[in-house]
Amino acid sequence: MGIASINPANGETIKTFEPLTDAEIEAKLDRAEQAFEQYRKTSMQERSQWLCVTAEILERNQEKFGKLMTLEMGKPLKGAIAEVEKCASVCRYYAENAAQFLADVPAQTDASYSFVRYQPLGTILAVMPWNFPFWQVFRFAAPALMAGNVGLLKHASNVPQCALAIEEIIQSAGFPSGVFQTLLVGADKVASLMADDRVKAATLTGSEPAGASLAQAAGKQIKKTVLELGGSDPFIVLESADLDAAVATATAARMLNNGQSCIAAKRFIVVEAIAQKFEKQVVEKFEALVVGDPMEPGTDLGPMATPKLLQELDQQVKVGVNSGARVLTGGQPLSDRPGNFYPPTILTDIPPGSPTEIEEFFGPVALFFRVADIDEAIRVANATPFGLGASAWTTNELERDRLIEEIEAGAVFINGMVKSDPRLPFGGTKKSGYGRELSIQGIHEFVNVKTVWVK
Ligand code: NAP
Repeated sequence: MGIASINPANGETIKTFEPLTDAEIEAKLDRAEQAFEQYRKTSMQERSQWLCVTAEILERNQEKFGKLMTLEMGKPLKGAIAEVEKCASVCRYYAENAAQFLADVPAQTDASYSFVRYQPLGTILAVMPWNFPFWQVFRFAAPALMAGNVGLLKHASNVPQCALAIEEIIQSAGFPSGVFQTLLVGADKVASLMADDRVKAATLTGSEPAGASLAQAAGKQIKKTVLELGGSDPFIVLESADLDAAVATATAARMLNNGQSCIAAKRFIVVEAIAQKFEKQVVEKFEALVVGDPMEPGTDLGPMATPKLLQELDQQVKVGVNSGARVLTGGQPLSDRPGNFYPPTILTDIPPGSPTEIEEFFGPVALFFRVADIDEAIRVANATPFGLGASAWTTNELERDRLIEEIEAGAVFINGMVKSDPRLPFGGTKKSGYGRELSIQGIHEFVNVKTVWVK
């Protein structure tokens, strides 16, 4: 696939882009390096001011940027506008807190005085996915720029207009020229970018193969990486749970962003005693969702981002059904219209040991599992290669403590849906990746932690 905006709601090609030539990439790498030499000397106050202007630009143009995202990748417009607001909030969060997060930390030692100082690394490459085309970038850019780094964005090839808009926003907020640049290049250029001395570290949000390939290229050069990869997050409902609240949240937790979120609840693990009631109510909620044009205010579920993703999801469901899984609702692409539409779908009776049990379904498909008790619930929850987030529902304190302690994931949300929040670290364990974004942990990923000892 080339670099192009193709409307997933109707298949129309809106705009195509030529990838940068090697000479153009070279010029941008040089520009980034030169920009860093000046930018690292700017004060926290200056950076903070530019980031606040970035937030204002985002807030003033919520609808415009929201529409751009919806046009390129199909998320319902309401969610796209909320995403722009959230980007403004992460900018404000780091504008307000970065100075404190990066202040020298004194340590009592045998020196006259000793302390830790945080210093920027230089040019950081960000390889980003299309599913939250603005949020994924701003949650990297806000802390990276506050720390004095400069950014190079290699965005997903299906959201080039978002990628260019973000560069323009950061530039027009007053950040010095070259501090944040978009590279319109395909995935085939990532390894050579990692090999370039001017790139000091990288972050990638995306699939496991992409993460492994970036980490391999970075490893050869001894460069730091942060990886935010896939997930097959459990949504556990125990007998003591507030069932109505769990049912109401289950739909949003699975369908947010047309089902294409790394932290979407993908496996619903429910104890036998309440499973039938839970299933019946969730099926009703799924069937009531409005599937259609993501620009329309009443739409709950838009198209999948690309035809390839639709085909892959369809194939996964077919494999599941052929191995013995049962469809409770949905189960076939919507062929009555153009665009990449797949209906809300639920699979149950998933055969133990089948690929369906452990794979990530990156679209509006929920997998239902019935379990005897909390022991089995935790066992099933942990039985995937992933460990991103987990949502668990209980009103019992002992159960709550066990879920917090025993679930293998980067986050556990009790009686709520897993979400990212600038104030809390975000990231995974196992094959969901390593490193953290957001909060104080996020801004410490791309800095040199320098020990200073003076006698
Ligand atoms: P993807 O194919 O891995 O694409 C993500 C980014 O990586 C794109 O910019 C892509 O470029 C690039 N890329 C692809 N192959 C690469 C390679 N071999 N080397 C270097 N870069 C490469 O991901 P996707 O399938 O579009 O996105 C969905 C996946 O992302 C899901 O698994 C989802 O769970 C995960 N995700 C995780 C998080 C998180 O925070 N943990 C958030 C969102 C999504 P091109 O577009 O040019 O191919």
